[in-house]
Amino acid sequence: MARNPDASGWELASKALENIREGVIVTDREASIVWVNSSFTRMTGYEQKDVIGRKPNVLQSGMHDKTFYRTMWSQLTDNGFWEGEIWNSKKNGEIFLEWIKISAIVDDRKRPTNYVAVFSDITDRKMTERKLEWLANYDMLTGLPNRRLFRARLSHLMMRPEEERAGKHLLFIDLDGFKWKNDRYGHSMGDQLLRSAAERLKQRIGELGTVYRYGGDEFTVLLEQPMEERELLEWADALLESFREPLEAKGSDMLISLSIGIKPLRNTPPETDADSLIKLADYAMYQAKAGGGDRWFVYENDALEPMQERARLEGELREALEQAQFVLHYQPKFKLPDRQLGGFEALIRWNHPKRGLLPPGQFIPLAEETGLIVPIGEWVIERVAAQLAEWSALGYELVPVSVNISALHLQRSSLTDRIRGVLARRGVPAKLLQLEVTESAVMQEIDSVVAVLLELRELGIGLAIDDFGTGYSSLGRLASLPVDTLKIDKSFIQLLDKNARSPIVTAIVKLAHEMNLSVVAEGVENETQLGFLNNLRCELVQGFLFSRPLEAAAIEGHYWKRKGRSE
Ligand code: C2E
Ligand code: CA
Ligand code: CA
Repeated sequence: MARNPDASGWELASKALENIREGVIVTDREASIVWVNSSFTRMTGYEQKDVIGRKPNVLQSGMHDKTFYRTMWSQLTDNGFWEGEIWNSKKNGEIFLEWIKISAIVDDRKRPTNYVAVFSDITDRKMTERKLEWLANYDMLTGLPNRRLFRARLSHLMMRPEEERAGKHLLFIDLDGFKWKNDRYGHSMGDQLLRSAAERLKQRIGELGTVYRYGGDEFTVLLEQPMEERELLEWADALLESFREPLEAKGSDMLISLSIGIKPLRNTPPETDADSLIKLADYAMYQAKAGGGDRWFVYENDALEPMQERARLEGELREALEQAQFVLHYQPKFKLPDRQLGGFEALIRWNHPKRGLLPPGQFIPLAEETGLIVPIGEWVIERVAAQLAEWSALGYELVPVSVNISALHLQRSSLTDRIRGVLARRGVPAKLLQLEVTESAVMQEIDSVVAVLLELRELGIGLAIDDFGTGYSSLGRLASLPVDTLKIDKSFIQLLDKNARSPIVTAIVKLAHEMNLSVVAEGVENETQLGFLNNLRCELVQGFLFSRPLEAAAIEGHYWKRKGRSE
């Protein structure tokens, strides 16, 4: 008993059309509506009875002009098909964006008998696209345009002819003491403060230019309104003055001042790019900050003085290497809980012929930028191996000495061979050498780094991640690295005060122990911190509470036990 296939076919088709998520409109050849499905009603608010017999233009939103519809119809007539975006309006007047496909149904002689339109509401998707676009160019916290947009605008301005830049200025602004306030009062207060500061900057700058959030508590301004120098400085004074009125953050008043670096955009050599301009403005900001903050500093000089200073320092660093002006100091580490000597960290100093003993902070950054850190690092390794050999010859019971290795050095595949060679030549066992590499160095996705770390471990060298907690760690990556020690950065230890409680330090120690890593806490300065770390079963401590870094001669006799003898 076969059913009429036509009837069941039509039933199925209309059921399908009725139930699909897209809205469906069927019209006759005159484009009068003959049928709509329930999704149409859900999406537009119009019932069947509201629209049957009417033209689809009941939905028109007034967002498109006559040509738009004319083009649509001529394509439909020519090709039998049209698709595109249309803004339509619902029964309640709300407008929405739809993606619509219209097809003509034709008879045997190719004449249209009906039109079928299938559409979906893409308003939300469009909004998401817009939102994503917004997020790429604006800062969520302050609503200001972000660093990306800033760099794009500045680059664009730098490609314009010189005359167009005359009298315009680039400002680099940093909030004084923000980090301290943020730590002291908490991040949500910090966020509010940033928002209020951004608001005030925006108000003060008004039509003169645009303020951008560069990152953290740093803002940049492109002052596009041409100004004479006198006028500009008066304006900058007024900007500083306006921050002497407290800002509101979470209902309380907060005072925060600005350090402003100013770089005029005139007379910049043609090849100057956005990045070097930002560097100069940042340098000017830094000068303002070094002068005590709450002030501006103009980078006037296009003679690039600081760049020359850098070049001189670089030359001196090269000499220092040749003439062996570096020295190592050793800071002891102690085991907990019995406070027995557990190792040393070698820390470099530069014995500068004119300026005396310089701490690493004054030359390591430049050494890293120039690549000189690699030969310097090799010198350190050589020196430490020699020292261990000397101590061994004196009959001391040796403990491991750790050496700081920079990221650049770690990327050299020859590092393992060099170390193997040095240790063999000096007769020092690998287990007495430990390398400290910073978290940021090992978290970079560089395969060669992992390869080098694996070779070093194979060799028997201890590996520690230094300054842990200050960079961005991927825990997955951490677990896969061949390291044996985490060193908690001293900034976290220093936050442990009287009512010592630090979720961060607790979490790091627990994390390390879960991963079978031992923990060194550096920067331990008082008994409270020590007590806290002891309770957490931190393995080793290092800090001024026990000893500053000392010259080799000063530790001899102080910390060493001769082998086989008691004290
Ligand atoms: P780091 O590896 O985090 O070294 C610890 C720093 O904390 C050292 O500063 C040390 O003197 C200091 N310190 C130790 N205990 C305390 C304490 O209780 N309180 C305080 N406030 N500070 C403490 P230093 O010697 O100035 O070294 C600074 C940085 O320079 C080192 O930080 C390391 O990153 C780098 N550095 C030092 N020597 C070398 C080296 O031979 N090669 C490389 N690549 N970097 C080195
Ligand atoms: Ca270190
Ligand atoms: Ca550190």
